[in-house]
Amino acid sequence: MPYNPYENAQAQFDTVADIINLDQGARELLRQPMKEFHFTIPVRMDDGSTKIFKAFRIKHNDARGPAKGGIRFHPHENADTVRALSMWMTWKCAVVDIPLGGSKGGVICDTHNMSQGEQERMCRGYIRQLYTQIGPNIDVPAPDLWSNAQHMLWMMDEYEIIAGARYPGVITGKPAGLGGSLGRTEATGYGVNYVLRDFLKAENINIKDTTASLQGFGLVGEYTARMYERLGGRIICVSCYNQADKTAYTFRKKSGCNIAELAGIKDSFGDINKDKARDFGYEVLPGDDWLSEEVDILFPAALENQITPQTFPKIAKSVRILCEAANGPTTPDCDALVRERGLALLPDLLTNAGGVTCSYYEQVQSNMNYYWGIDEVFEKLNAAMSRAFKAVYELSKERSLYMRDAAYVIAINKVVEAVRRRGWI
Ligand code: NAD
Repeated sequence: MPYNPYENAQAQFDTVADIINLDQGARELLRQPMKEFHFTIPVRMDDGSTKIFKAFRIKHNDARGPAKGGIRFHPHENADTVRALSMWMTWKCAVVDIPLGGSKGGVICDTHNMSQGEQERMCRGYIRQLYTQIGPNIDVPAPDLWSNAQHMLWMMDEYEIIAGARYPGVITGKPAGLGGSLGRTEATGYGVNYVLRDFLKAENINIKDTTASLQGFGLVGEYTARMYERLGGRIICVSCYNQADKTAYTFRKKSGCNIAELAGIKDSFGDINKDKARDFGYEVLPGDDWLSEEVDILFPAALENQITPQTFPKIAKSVRILCEAANGPTTPDCDALVRERGLALLPDLLTNAGGVTCSYYEQVQSNMNYYWGIDEVFEKLNAAMSRAFKAVYELSKERSLYMRDAAYVIAINKVVEAVRRRGWI
């Protein structure tokens, strides 16, 4: 039975709603999105035909500020995934305490097989359909799976053409120099490491003594690996998808992967070239093998639903920490197994919140039309992630809570307070 991320997100919410004895009105409001837009985008293809793409923008909750969330381009995108991700955005913004709500978007498409012109027309079409429902103070999109800075720039440009004015704060993830923030590319992966670093410190573990295995080598995976390597950790395996073979591979180097080297042989979708990897001395193994490598830390940084009761037994006995860099990589029915085995779980809503935190910084800079230096961005990001980690870690210790539940308790309480004080419930 395939997992439904929306049901997962609701199950996680329900668990915590029980822990905090949330009343019925708040439960009903918060366990579903407040607004949904389902629409089609007609796109003139290069061969002269017209293709109709199905698209979504779903706003879960904006009580704490304008909604914020990426737009995913994927052939298997669907409304329930977008609903789940919009909910997770609300909790994520709350857990790192940035004044934003949660939303998400998606287009069912395969950008791997679309020309630049087709992608541009699709991006512009997305904005034309949604123009009245997004804006710097309404809902601010960003890149996500298979979408990138160029897509965001086309979207911003289309918005500004319709508006007849410059609104760089309408979208984030733009290229630096064209309304983007320095540091956004690295922010999610670096944020993952700021949390991991603080956790290891709190547990008296030296990061230099640790090894890790990573799934996904896109924006999140690559910069997670780069910072982990910089802090002294050693990545042994990287698993990623191969579009040509329609399957995933694990690239392993027992002495430690060279992340810059792997980054040099990946394409714009984060897929590593397997022939070149072999030339560099990497073993090329089945996609799931990243789980069974004898390492200390697993970084799932690709897709949701990767750590399930079916895949969990493959995890090597040496693994002590599950550091969720992707959104929803662990299914709720696997959380009990993670706890039973005593794995420390650094939950996605905290761990990968560096991305949205830096997007918020980009929004602030774009709205002011005044841009910060990179040191200022990383300094603020580091402080925000550390503060959020401390709050979650301390609550988890104080109340003997699983770290995911502790993060949710903090996030849900903040959103509940906002909806109550606004008088929505
Ligand atoms: P991306 O498109 O840049 O990269 C995705 C990576 O996953 C690629 O390396 C691809 O090869 C790999 N992959 C895809 N299917 C795979 C499979 N079956 N097995 C192994 N590898 C596979 O995406 P991204 O922006 O790095 O996002 C990754 C995850 O992080 C997603 O869950 C996303 O929602 C989440 N996330 C992204 C951001 C961000 O700033 N981009 C922020 C927070 C969370």
